[in-house]
This record gives sequence, structure tokens and C-alpha cells, in this order.
Amino acid sequence: MERGDDIRGELRDLVTALKNHISNGRDSINPVSRLSMKGEPTGRREENERGNLLKTMGKATARDRRTLLTLPGVREELGECTRCPLSRTRKNLVFGEGSARARLVFVGEAPGEEEDNQGRPFVGRAGQLLTKIIDAMGLKRQDVYICNILKCRPPGNRNPKEEEIKTCEPFLVKQLEAIDPEIICALGTFAAKTLLRAETPISSIRGKFHDYHGRKLMPTYHPAYLLRNPDAKKLVWEDVQKIMKIL
Ligand code: URA
Repeated sequence: MERGDDIRGELRDLVTALKNHISNGRDSINPVSRLSMKGEPTGRREENERGNLLKTMGKATARDRRTLLTLPGVREELGECTRCPLSRTRKNLVFGEGSARARLVFVGEAPGEEEDNQGRPFVGRAGQLLTKIIDAMGLKRQDVYICNILKCRPPGNRNPKEEEIKTCEPFLVKQLEAIDPEIICALGTFAAKTLLRAETPISSIRGKFHDYHGRKLMPTYHPAYLLRNPDAKKLVWEDVQKIMKIL
């Protein structure tokens, strides 16, 4: 194929993607695929599924991709979610809050009682401690973005189930892709294990940057753990200082 045809094809694909985005109010591209473009090898089948459009997207800059996927678009796609049984027991869905252009995103486990009441992440006791940590970093809650692996409270704050994670995580992936942060801070074992697909205890993975689809991910202890184990606060402080050095 001539180079001119190639470029014309790419432009056509890009225009189609933009049209779809505008008419659907959402992105039609699998977010995991897009994250994998940041460096993950992909299989041939997946490659075929993506087709020309993703070839075009692969050449687009992070900023281009962000214009195709927005937080309001992800929120709209999530809607009044009933994809899993947690929708029957939740009071409010907790999508996340903060800056849509945050360089740092905190990811926790799931909303607790207070978060479920208010529809906002990290507003209970653990949340107040997280707010203090963010303040100590010289930032405000509105400078960063705060969200969870699950958007709905598991009854009695039980651990999230595999099926619930499977259903909900794609929306977190889309949120991260829309925000395009430099650093993700995974709060606690659960968030770290889910994002890194690792079984390693938080005590051995915290304090080091890990790769998350081409982004830096820092696992650290969950603020709720710090409420029970105040001695670990100094370790979290060491971890967030590493983040601050980069920011
Ligand atoms: N714990 C979490 O993991 N997330 C919240 O939003 C609140 C408490």
C-alpha cells in the first residue's frame, strides 16, 4: 500500500472514532487494550480485534487519547449500575472525585459505610487520615483523584468478591486512562494485589514503584490499617515522599 493511502486510512479511522465518541458520548475502544499499548505485548487475536482504529490510536499521543475518553463519559457509561448484586444493597454508587487532570491517583478498596452514605470516596475515619496524608504532601484533595477498585459498598464491609472485581475494574481502568496520571498510589493489600495481579503481601511490595501498563504504581498501607497500626505511618510517609520527589 502507498504511504498516502495508509495516512488517508488512518485519518478515516480517527474521524470514525471521533464521530462515534461524539454520538455515543463514550469511547468505543476497550480500555484495557489501550492501556496495553503503553508497553504490554498483545496476542494476535486481540490485535485483529482492535483493527485499524487501534493502530491509529497507538500512534496517538496520550493527550489525543484522553480527549477521546473523559471522566464524565465513563460516569455516564457506568450509569446507575446494576451489573452486580452490590447494586441491591448500596445506598450510593461512589464513582470517585478530584481533578480530571490529576498527576496522582489514589486507589482504595471499596466504599465503606460513610462513603456509601455520602456517595464520595474516603470520607470516613480512614478517609480523614488520607486527607491528612495528602495535606502533608503539600496537596489538596482536589489536586489528586481518589477512587476505589469497587464502586459500591460490600455489605458489612466484607472483602470484595472476584466476580465483583471483574465487573467493576474495567471502569477503574477507563478512569485511569481518562485521567492519564503519572503515578497511581494503591492503598492497601487489596488495591495493590488487584492492580498488580500479584499475591505478594503489601509489606514486601510497598515502598517501591511497580509498572502498571507503563505508569508508576506505588503500593502503600491503607489508611484504615494505619488507624490500627499507627507505627506504620512512618513507612507510609517514606512511600509518599518517593511520590513527592517525582511530582
Ligand atoms: N476504604 C476504602 O478502601 N475506600 C474508601 O473509599 C473508604 C474506605
